[in-house]
Amino acid sequence: MIVPFFDSKRLDSLLRKELVSAFERVVFERGIFILGEEVAAFEKSFSSYVGRKHCISVNSGTDALILTLRAMNIGRGDEVLVPANSFVASAFSVSYVGASPVFVDVDEKYYLISLTDAEKRVTGHTKAIMPVHLYGNPCNQSEIRQFAEKFNLRVIEDAAQAHGAFDCGVPLGKSGDAACFSFYPTKNLGAMGDSGAIITDDDELASRLRRLRNYGQQQKYVSEEIGINSRLDELQAAFLNCKLPLLDSLVSERREIAARYSANLEGIVDIPIERQNCIYAYHLYVIRTPNRDCLQQYLKSKGVATLIHYPIPLHKQKPYSHVHVSLPNAERLSSEILSLPIFPRLTSEEVDYVCETIKEHHVKCDSCHPCL
Ligand SMILES: *Cc1c(COP(=O)(O)O)cnc(C)c1O
Repeated sequence: MIVPFFDSKRLDSLLRKELVSAFERVVFERGIFILGEEVAAFEKSFSSYVGRKHCISVNSGTDALILTLRAMNIGRGDEVLVPANSFVASAFSVSYVGASPVFVDVDEKYYLISLTDAEKRVTGHTKAIMPVHLYGNPCNQSEIRQFAEKFNLRVIEDAAQAHGAFDCGVPLGKSGDAACFSFYPTKNLGAMGDSGAIITDDDELASRLRRLRNYGQQQKYVSEEIGINSRLDELQAAFLNCKLPLLDSLVSERREIAARYSANLEGIVDIPIERQNCIYAYHLYVIRTPNRDCLQQYLKSKGVATLIHYPIPLHKQKPYSHVHVSLPNAERLSSEILSLPIFPRLTSEEVDYVCETIKEHHVKCDSCHPCL
């Protein structure tokens, strides 16, 4: 059996009619491609989905982070606390505005930013903290809020993996000043190309972000400040408008797949732990085992595609070779974690096949020297 890591076609083919009519509406009926009514409709629906006043759509999740930092006047000489186990964009956005990411270790249970470790790294230059709701697992919003108040920091949530996650019944994006989302095709809510958005309740931040994404303009050809071109396309917005109403059911589907993995794999490998009263949105299903490389090879030989999120902790990436810090949890994790296939319409048979293959390897690997 061949099990892909991700296959967008399974869901999109079910939405074929809606997607084609979205395309026809934008291209043949309206002929408006930038900042039209699809974008306005999507911003309205997404902000109401997360229960925030404003949604500002942009080109990508990375731009969402960069523009938010910029809109908060975070730049040269400033420091931002970033967990070491995340996608590079979390740290690069901080570096890109001229500020310094200060890498924070993750906790051993949930692999999320450790506030105990973060506290040791706060200095007079620290301006913000960027909790990443990694794998769709929500960080503890009230603890983050308290931490930020104690040290007078802005909170920029990296929610790129966490559409549809909830913490105590509250959708993400409530612990901070702003939350940044990505609609990269593989994400829980994915477009047919790059796109992203920021959500916030802060009126001033929202209007500055709207300017920054469009050459600093409020009014056509009148720039208040230097901005860039980072706008969501009408076509992408039209596709997202088709998919947003399905988000909760897509997340439920991911959670059913995760539950099936967990029931099968408990006791064989470390399985993800859900925080109480939270909805873990399972953008990724990540197991942990000391024989990771050997297991990944074995799965590959049996047709199962896996990935590692992430193989290099951020402080070990080349652009940060000047940063000398030891973050033991993040470093150990990077050699032991493995992401299994999880996406809407992955079948139970496929999940069971992946689990059987892992169990098979578990038995074999006990006597297999190369992995030890
Ligand atoms: C995907 C992702 C991003 C970046 O989003 P893009 O839309 O690809 O720019 C940022 N942070 C995290 C944690 C992500 O997973």
